[in-house]
Amino acid sequence: MTFKSLGLNDEIISAITEMGYEKPTPIQEQAIPYLLDHQGDLIGLASTGTGKTAAFGLPLLNQINVADKSTQGLIICPTRELCLQISRDLSDYSKNIKGLKVTAVYGGTDIVKQIREIERGVHVIVATPGRLMDLIKRKKVKLNTVKTVILDEADEMLNMGFKEDIDTILEKTPTEKSVWLFSATMPKEVARIAKNYMVDPFEITVGGKNESNKNIEHQFYVVKGREKYEGLKRILDYNPDIYGLVFCRTRRDTAAVADKLMADGYSAEPLHGDLSQAQRDRVMEKFRNKGIQILVATDVAARGIDVNDITHVIHHSLPEDVENYTHRSGRTARAGKKGISAAIITPSEGRKIKQIERIIKSSFVKKNVPKADEICEKQLFNLVDKMHDVEVNEKEIGKYMPTVMEKLGEFSKEEIIAKFVSTEFNRFLNYYSKAKDISANISDRGGKGSDRERGRKDRGERREQRPNQQRFFVNLGKKDRFNNGALLRLICDSTGISKSKIGKIDILNNFSFFEADKSETENIIKNAQGLDFDGAIMNVEVTNSAPKFSGGRRDGGKRNSSSGYGGNRRGGNKSGGNRSARRSYKRN
Ligand code: AMP
Repeated sequence: MTFKSLGLNDEIISAITEMGYEKPTPIQEQAIPYLLDHQGDLIGLASTGTGKTAAFGLPLLNQINVADKSTQGLIICPTRELCLQISRDLSDYSKNIKGLKVTAVYGGTDIVKQIREIERGVHVIVATPGRLMDLIKRKKVKLNTVKTVILDEADEMLNMGFKEDIDTILEKTPTEKSVWLFSATMPKEVARIAKNYMVDPFEITVGGKNESNKNIEHQFYVVKGREKYEGLKRILDYNPDIYGLVFCRTRRDTAAVADKLMADGYSAEPLHGDLSQAQRDRVMEKFRNKGIQILVATDVAARGIDVNDITHVIHHSLPEDVENYTHRSGRTARAGKKGISAAIITPSEGRKIKQIERIIKSSFVKKNVPKADEICEKQLFNLVDKMHDVEVNEKEIGKYMPTVMEKLGEFSKEEIIAKFVSTEFNRFLNYYSKAKDISANISDRGGKGSDRERGRKDRGERREQRPNQQRFFVNLGKKDRFNNGALLRLICDSTGISKSKIGKIDILNNFSFFEADKSETENIIKNAQGLDFDGAIMNVEVTNSAPKFSGGRRDGGKRNSSSGYGGNRRGGNKSGGNRSARRSYKRN
């Protein structure tokens, strides 16, 4: 099948042909003809990398009436990165359609400039929910002319706490419209949106619900907890040409792993929420241009990363929420290429692998951590290949050659080759000369010794020992558009605590409360303090009081003031204020 036979117009065909798109991907093959022929709604269950941007982007552009300057298409997506990527793709697809305007609106950047662009007239707006809400409130965007609304990565948007915003935005658009919803997974909340806002949607599933891309090979390595970093290094050393993403659970781990890799001479950098937007943009740019080989990232920071050719996704730790595994691994094997998703697990995490296998409907391959001699051999031949392929710059090196010949003239050809190869190879030989095999096995819970003990704990004792819940106060409430999803996202992403460990949540008008395992108190106070929620600084305190009222502001309206909730302020105003300048956790 060709793009021409799908019914797209010539301007679009010529643009995508120039971009090297020869034939449609499976989702494009199914979605494009349907969307060109029908006015209705559509649900596309597909993850990133399947070609879904063109699957909705091409039919959308095909139906725009350029002579009409009103906004006809609205695309909502979870992150700034994805927003930029979609608008870039749409601009490329429509470059031969004279006068067609696409603009991106997202947070963390000058809103005035975006307002000016919209006022000049745009046919398609690509937006993140937070910034679009802002524009709606300022009455700077008119959605009453929109004919098609596209929700991209709907599950991610709901995960990130944008449920209410999406409802409000959809309610601002005309009743007579088409809604095209794309999501990698179909949790209850996404199904609710489909039920409330879509009429008899046409459903397309690429590769089965939640099923992962067939081009990804899923692997796992088992090591003892303290050997995780060594395991990671060995995997990296065994893959000298890696272009990969390493996922960690918390920002602290991400920074620590990236720091260690950099100190050990790897071409790596971190990407996490403690970095400013400008720093994150710089790191992404560098990674995209292959200026670094390894990006160490948190799940949140890596959302929307759209880089082709990623060879490996390495899970230094598995995601707290196993559903996130699909999002992580989907960063590799894009556009029909092959990729590896490798998890480094501890002996007790075997069950998690089984859980993930059920979700992705695919099996993992257990791999042994590469041994010292395997790594040295791999590095040696990589070096030899590089020497074989290197281009000699005759002009620049020519002037030094007589001296070089003089110094090396006494050696035979074999000796010279051995010496050159050894200059690099010796580094690995030395490092790995005393290295032991660090592969471990998954623990068998029915076994003997400590495993049996662990089994006993799982059955009963652990319940008795379960620490009590601690209650926390948060200075944000409904009036800040704070909700359960946002609270879970901020707390869990900054601390690495699983959502299941967060107990009761009470979102009141001006502030909120939540409960979590007492053992996580220090982690929560240290990591969730001072986060930026849509411009407001989040203050978390330990409290023992229950919310006896839901009305007026107990702290007299001042954020970060001493509210009388519990005693543990850990620096109070000062620490919250100072840290927030550094720690940006914008919703967009
Ligand atoms: P997406 O899932 O939309 O993020 O697309 C993944 C990658 O595949 C992007 O880099 C697209 O440019 C590329 N792509 C999408 N459709 C095609 C196609 N039909 N042929 C070749 N590359 C494509």
